[in-house]
Amino acid sequence: MLKHTLIIAALLAGTPACVSINGAVNATAAGPVTTIDNPMTDAIAKANASVAAIVAIPDKDRTFDNTVGAIDDLLATFEYRVSLFIFMSNVHPDAAVREESQAAEEKYNNFLIEVTKREDLYKAVKAYAATNPKLEGEQKRLLEFTLRDYRRAGMDLTPEKRARLTEVQKEIGKLVIEFNKNNAEEDSTVMLTKEELKGVPAEMVSRFPGNGGVCVVGLAGPTYIPVMENCENETTRQKMWMAYKRRGGKKNVGILEHVLKLRGEEATLLGYKSNAEYEIEVRMAKTPKAVDDFYAKLRPLAREKAKQDFAEFTAAKQKQTNDPKAELKPWDFQFVKNYLLKTKYAVDGEKVREYFPMEAAVDGLFKTTQSLYGLEYKDVTATKGGTTERPLWHPDVKLYEVWDKATGKMLGEFYLDMYPRENKYSHAAQWGLQQHKVWGNGKVTTPLAALVCNFTKPTEGKPSLLQHSEVETFFHEFGHCLHTIVSEAKYYRFAGTSVERDFVEAPSQMFENWVWDAATLNTFAKHYKTGEALPKDLLQAMIAGKNLGSGLDAENQFYYALTDLKYERTSDGKVDTTKIATDLYPEITMYTFRPEGTYYQASFGHLMHYNAGYYGYMWSKVFACDMARRFKELGMLSPEAGKYYRQKVISQGGTKDAMDLLKDYLGREPKLDAFVEDLGLKGK
Ligand SMILES: [Zn+2]
Repeated sequence: MLKHTLIIAALLAGTPACVSINGAVNATAAGPVTTIDNPMTDAIAKANASVAAIVAIPDKDRTFDNTVGAIDDLLATFEYRVSLFIFMSNVHPDAAVREESQAAEEKYNNFLIEVTKREDLYKAVKAYAATNPKLEGEQKRLLEFTLRDYRRAGMDLTPEKRARLTEVQKEIGKLVIEFNKNNAEEDSTVMLTKEELKGVPAEMVSRFPGNGGVCVVGLAGPTYIPVMENCENETTRQKMWMAYKRRGGKKNVGILEHVLKLRGEEATLLGYKSNAEYEIEVRMAKTPKAVDDFYAKLRPLAREKAKQDFAEFTAAKQKQTNDPKAELKPWDFQFVKNYLLKTKYAVDGEKVREYFPMEAAVDGLFKTTQSLYGLEYKDVTATKGGTTERPLWHPDVKLYEVWDKATGKMLGEFYLDMYPRENKYSHAAQWGLQQHKVWGNGKVTTPLAALVCNFTKPTEGKPSLLQHSEVETFFHEFGHCLHTIVSEAKYYRFAGTSVERDFVEAPSQMFENWVWDAATLNTFAKHYKTGEALPKDLLQAMIAGKNLGSGLDAENQFYYALTDLKYERTSDGKVDTTKIATDLYPEITMYTFRPEGTYYQASFGHLMHYNAGYYGYMWSKVFACDMARRFKELGMLSPEAGKYYRQKVISQGGTKDAMDLLKDYLGREPKLDAFVEDLGLKGK
């Protein structure tokens, strides 16, 4: 029942969090409301009273509405009351508010765990189910899912087994925190001379601490990436790559293996062969075998592109080093890609961004989506924002209403919080703060979403110019946002992005396609000084650049997904994660290199948080490409295609199995070829 409301953009963001609702709030006399009172204690008391009321109903009087529906009501109400407050820990400028909000989140999580394990509530649901009610549609699904969630939580087990299950889960919880802490405190460095850093921008080198000509180089993204992209010394890149793959240390390898063992035990207690079987059961794939089959079909197709990439990259390395025998190694990938982008494709990211002033990008996205989906957005920051219901936590924050043109109804609202500031969530993400719900009396709660990004702020005389990848991120997150907003689900349990975890990234990844479409870009990508449209040949070069190394990249993603899946298939708890990671690398990627002495898994947060779920990114990407095909045929800006997609997919949320939604939308079985085309495979 626990909702996953934060949708993360970056593949490696790895920060889990769940939150959501609109709270009891208080206004100050002057100025907009920037914060809200902590609603948690009150919300828990009210939720407990609702539980007591459900439990008190005599079994003979049980109905769908007063039992299963009432649980949906109580969980929705609870979330509506607390979500905005909990969300504040990610965005509020005031440390005291963030701390209180964080503490509230812990209470929120604990309360949800408690509620889902209440015996009396479970008995109430079982008593209602025993009447063999004739249900249909969402109601039938809600009863099935409720019973399924209870079974999966171990409610049918003997008291001894349940006690052990709780023990195991608590232990896993502690280990996860320890793993994260080790990662957060990770501060490995590599000592390098200035000569060894040849090619890295001098300005950057001058900022490295060190003495006697030796630099201390850290491994955080903002340092690691520029070094890997620019350093001409291969030995340096190798040292950096190896050190990067050892972050987290052997202590985290031990913690991960301990967690995998406990998860295996958990799955066995619940009657499953492995944790992968347990987790994937409730996803689109349903079985690990389906994921195996998916990759068995996909890998040879992507291999074609990977081979072309490997040949292109090897030739480039030989040219760059003047060594006709030079071989391509994993630590060359970023460097050679950067070299090819500059020399062969001549795409200058700094030039490209001059065509993407942020206001125009926001405007372009708004116009595109309004026209595609029959919507209208109204900026209500000044009129509705800053009230107790809709606080504005910072002057940068904006609030919009979304109206449906066909019916004239207000569908929902979203916040935009676009610029970085201290102590703000540092990636890009969408929060579903309030989900669509139709109450028993016909009243509708409309969705509320928040988009949190970190784009460069405008300075005097210069607007915020976005990198093309930032525009893509913005479209991606907005794909999640629309999924939340246009929901028509009756029950909170199925609203918005409450879909199978391996489908949730499909609508967002699909929407990335629009930033590569010439017709769409023509509507807004204009030079910030001259107003000139993005030149055609520049866009062509950008697209070629996008496909550069896409096959090698895809195989790298396969590697992460398949190591994750292999780790989670133990039932006896014996997993040598380092051996698996080392063995699979040359098996899955084009590189013959065995990464002995590394253990990437020690710092890979997804393994801890997404429970045999990493495959989901590629899985949903394949379906995203397949869904986008209809737009490519009818026109990326075709309102007809947009309306159809809205109706068949994003308005449906989790009211049906995603595979059924997908087949209904496609009018056929899903296929892999759109994904392969998306890799930019030549000669096919
Ligand atoms: Zn996403």
